[in-house]
Amino acid sequence: MEHHPYLNPFNERMKQTLAGKPLAELIEHLKPLPAFRARQLLHHICRGTRTFAEMTDFSLSLREDMERRFTLYSSKVVQRLTDKDGSIKLQIALNDNMIEAVILRDRIERKTACLSTQAGCPIGCVFCKTGKLGFSRNLASTEIVEQFLHLQRAAGSRIDNIVVMGMGEPLLNPVELRKALIFLTDEETLNFSKRSITISTCGIAEGIRGLAENAPNIRLALSLTTADQDLRKRLMPATVANPLPAVKEALLYYQQRQKRRVTLEIVLLGGVNNRQEDADTVAVFARGLDAVVNLIPWNPVSDALFEGAPLRQPTRAETDGFAENLRKRGLNVTVRLKRGRGVAGACGQLGYVEN
Ligand code: SAH
Ligand code: SF4
Repeated sequence: MEHHPYLNPFNERMKQTLAGKPLAELIEHLKPLPAFRARQLLHHICRGTRTFAEMTDFSLSLREDMERRFTLYSSKVVQRLTDKDGSIKLQIALNDNMIEAVILRDRIERKTACLSTQAGCPIGCVFCKTGKLGFSRNLASTEIVEQFLHLQRAAGSRIDNIVVMGMGEPLLNPVELRKALIFLTDEETLNFSKRSITISTCGIAEGIRGLAENAPNIRLALSLTTADQDLRKRLMPATVANPLPAVKEALLYYQQRQKRRVTLEIVLLGGVNNRQEDADTVAVFARGLDAVVNLIPWNPVSDALFEGAPLRQPTRAETDGFAENLRKRGLNVTVRLKRGRGVAGACGQLGYVEN
């Protein structure tokens, strides 16, 4: 990888980092200090304290000692972009990669934090900027939690929702994702409501089954895009390992266990997946599921080609027409607002390379 001036921002890679780690690990790291010190430290981290110097309930010598032994954060915000709609995109340097995380504002001013789970993505969807980057590595749970802490600080007020819809495929990083979700939702740590968290997946059947068993109350969205298997594998190449019948079976199992409505996301690509027959196949796929279809008019990504031809946004008439076609087939349909486009922070526009 090319040298980037922001990479390895601290030059302190030998020091343990602390943000996003559970109490048991902090107790270990802080030894021989007593456990209650670890608890105090955890509270500081969850409240957003950024430096040891601010932890004035620790003596000066203790603060200095911690400073010598540890680094609070493993990542650093290197750029903050604010859209006129109030959305904020953060570019975050890890010790070897750059990632992005976003706050999206909706019409009623709720704030949604959008988190990344991988640097790059191995699925390679042709319409997605992250997919065009290729795959670098899975993020550690602490790197996922730190995004939330950075966003919370940037937002300046309460975050209402979390969507795991940033860079990468969350269910290909299930172990670290799970640890991050525990930190985000546990009463002892960030105490974020599970019902206000949505995980979006391109459809990793085994991962969906894992959520059914281990992630009660967390919401699930499937990036269906199209229910035409042949078209889907051309648009989302690495999904071939999880063909649609297997994904559907996993969703049925999920709903048997969780009894929660799932979202089927369809990024609408003008003239590609909005034909009459696309509405038919989506309706067949949705049969037997408690689902709502969320249409996302494609957000432009430079040089996005599908089999040699440039992709284009659907027209307003195409989006409305496709929504109507789905409704006629008995489906619940919503159309997603275009938020965060001014900072290239909208769906599918994350990937630091061109920013
Ligand atoms: N990898 C996961 C989560 C990140 S992608 C997944 O695919 O679900 C989050 C959502 O953004 C997906 O629904 C995807 O279809 C959508 N998306 C990707 N590129 C897009 C683009 N250029 N415009 C609009 N939506 C896009
Ligand atoms: Fe990966 Fe999701 Fe982008 Fe596809 S849409 S390349 S799965 S991040």
